[in-house]
Amino acid sequence: MKAKPRILVTGAGGFIGHHLVKRLKNDGFWVRGVDIKSADYEPSPGDEFALLDLRLWENCLKATKDVDQVYNLAADMGGIGYITANHADITRNNILINTHMIDASRLNGVARFLFSSSACVYPQYRQKDPDVTPLKEIDAMPADPEPGYGWEKLFAEELCRYYKKDYGFETRIVRFHNVYGPLGTYEGGKEKAPAAISRKVALADDGGEIEVWGDGLQTRSFMYVDDCVEGLIRLMASDFSEPLNLGNDRLVTINELIDLVSAIAGKKLSKRHDPSKPQGVRGRNSDNTLLNQVLRWEPAIDLEEGLGITYKWIEGELRKAGRLPAVEAGQVAS
Ligand code: NAD
Repeated sequence: MKAKPRILVTGAGGFIGHHLVKRLKNDGFWVRGVDIKSADYEPSPGDEFALLDLRLWENCLKATKDVDQVYNLAADMGGIGYITANHADITRNNILINTHMIDASRLNGVARFLFSSSACVYPQYRQKDPDVTPLKEIDAMPADPEPGYGWEKLFAEELCRYYKKDYGFETRIVRFHNVYGPLGTYEGGKEKAPAAISRKVALADDGGEIEVWGDGLQTRSFMYVDDCVEGLIRLMASDFSEPLNLGNDRLVTINELIDLVSAIAGKKLSKRHDPSKPQGVRGRNSDNTLLNQVLRWEPAIDLEEGLGITYKWIEGELRKAGRLPAVEAGQVAS
């Protein structure tokens, strides 16, 4: 019988990486996690966890030793405020991580290398309307991606394709569309819209007001993290080496997202729109035609269900931190 592959997850101290390590361990794999920081909310459940700065070549060689598969999720990234304010740092850090990680993986004989790209590679000229046409993989060219973060993701995708062509190195390229769920950053500047909105709603008094970046009419689709992890594992197992969308294709406005979270919290809130804040492209959605063809599957967890779990977790964290009143015995948390 063939031994199960030994797996490295980089970015294991981060949101998606942590969930992926948990799932791979549950599935019985040997897993090494690597990150520049520890997991924020619970210990990483892998067989090994190493604190390494993957911008450095020697650390990438160490990280990729004696493993068969690499999920390269480590990246300097955050929500729209963070990626708009840090073009130089994000681009430099991620170019270093990705270039060193792919070459160290090849030299150490890794059989499969998965690169986590982003819907931010799609051209801005295709995302000017809230009622956006869902983006197909071939739409990425001619290139006009998100400044900084989108450019370096697109470049690293190309690098994966060159490694496949020139060295026959097996690469997988996934383009995530807005992933959310529990155990992710919910404040400090690196959080994304669903987590930021959940925090704001949890901290607001019923009948109060919350701040919204932009006019709230910008649209996005959101994928629950369990779907994301399922898609990652299916893509790694496939023989598909071209870029593939991994996202949900239900489009909602940011205003609708706030209404959904407010309903979960049982609060009536008004919105104060701030057009001076960054809001990214006007509309973005995933075309899942190719995803369905390649994986015979697509994300299925309802936005209402996923947001319910995410909201409860963030509310619980705020209670633990003493920023919301503790729930009395016999009382039910919202
Ligand atoms: P995250 O920020 O929670 O995780 C990324 C991890 O990479 C962090 O724990 C961070 O400490 C680590 N890291 C950063 N620099 C490092 C370095 N020099 N050495 C080692 N580790 C380093 O983000 P996430 O949401 O879990 O994203 C995982 C991957 O998915 C990233 O590549 C990201 O660009 C991509 N992605 C995520 C989304 C999303 O909606 N979450 C969307 C598109 C793409």
